[in-house]
Amino acid sequence: MHPRDLSDHVAYQAGRGIEEVARELGRDPSTFVKLASNENAHGPSPAAVEAIEAAAPGVSSYPKATHADLTAAIADRWDVESPQVWLANGGDGAIDYLSRAMLEPGDDVLVPTPGFAYYGMSARFHHGDVAEYELERANDFAQDADTILEAYDGERIVYLTSPHNPSGSTIDLEAVEEIAGETDEETLVVVDEAYGEFADVDSAVALLEGRDGFAKRDDVAVIRTFSKAYGLAGLRLGYAVVPESWADAYTRVNTPFAASELACRAGLAALDDHEHVERTIETVTAARKRMSEEIDAHVWPSAGNFVLVDVGEATPVADAMQERGVIVRDCTSFGLPGCIRITCGTDRETGRAIETLNEVLEAGATNLSNRPQTGGA
Ligand SMILES: *Cc1c(COP(=O)(O)O)cnc(C)c1O
Repeated sequence: MHPRDLSDHVAYQAGRGIEEVARELGRDPSTFVKLASNENAHGPSPAAVEAIEAAAPGVSSYPKATHADLTAAIADRWDVESPQVWLANGGDGAIDYLSRAMLEPGDDVLVPTPGFAYYGMSARFHHGDVAEYELERANDFAQDADTILEAYDGERIVYLTSPHNPSGSTIDLEAVEEIAGETDEETLVVVDEAYGEFADVDSAVALLEGRDGFAKRDDVAVIRTFSKAYGLAGLRLGYAVVPESWADAYTRVNTPFAASELACRAGLAALDDHEHVERTIETVTAARKRMSEEIDAHVWPSAGNFVLVDVGEATPVADAMQERGVIVRDCTSFGLPGCIRITCGTDRETGRAIETLNEVLEAGATNLSNRPQTGGA
């Protein structure tokens, strides 16, 4: 007995956890800070925590009504119809639902490199193949229509990430419109806005609704998540917003009760907790600014809750930082062996990350003089 041929499949490499690292180094977990997975420095919304506690006795029931309530609340927030909101087990789950709804065996998807690994993984799970477009480091990972259209070869789904993980770059809606317009009628452009709350740009929901001067399109979908700005990564809650014309496909592809009772209750509470989101965004904005000003290495401008830093050689730098108690993301697995990604922490955590990185760079864990020069200030 064997599983099917999974040789093309790769395991997702998550940022390392405090427990895991502390155990490996034989140290006290409380002495570490983890800035490796773009989690919320302020934790979950307190209102969401209360809602989870209050909902706990009810988890013997399937989450039918709450699922509908959360869908309606999200639809209201975006001013779309409820069927257009595809609730899922995280943004990743929403990506799976789009794969299920779109891909026939052998269909291709076009994904960014460097980029978020799950787009390709999901396509492969659904018997699809993966092609890549390159965001060039020398061009500060700029996302423009030409870069994507030059690589485009009739793929069924084109993934755009705005803000982009791990670079933090964004793509403007005019470029998304051009890509959607220039690709085949049956090509879906998915705009992954997992970090949308942190960016000062408009959501691509405007394209599928025909707002802000854009013509209404049926070939653009948007991914959003409660994992980042809302601090609910552990609950697994996200969604896609899709065009009305094929929104009913959800009922044919979704796993029954796609989001749990606790996730739905927490999501409902978090949506209303504006104070928590605003505080989160404020902290992130300040941390990004501070890291770009105070880190003694090139920091790319970021619209996400993280920054990408050119450290020369990522693995020794990330290891040395970890040794000093700060866990960051080595971007080698993203195809950027010269870069680390640091999540915006609380003011204290961010300060400690800056200080630690500068010490490591100063100590010469990497040979700075051999470091390739990159563009940008
Ligand atoms: C974090 C993230 C997601 C979604 O994560 P979930 O926890 O599954 O909601 C989607 N896309 C990108 C680029 C991300 O970084």
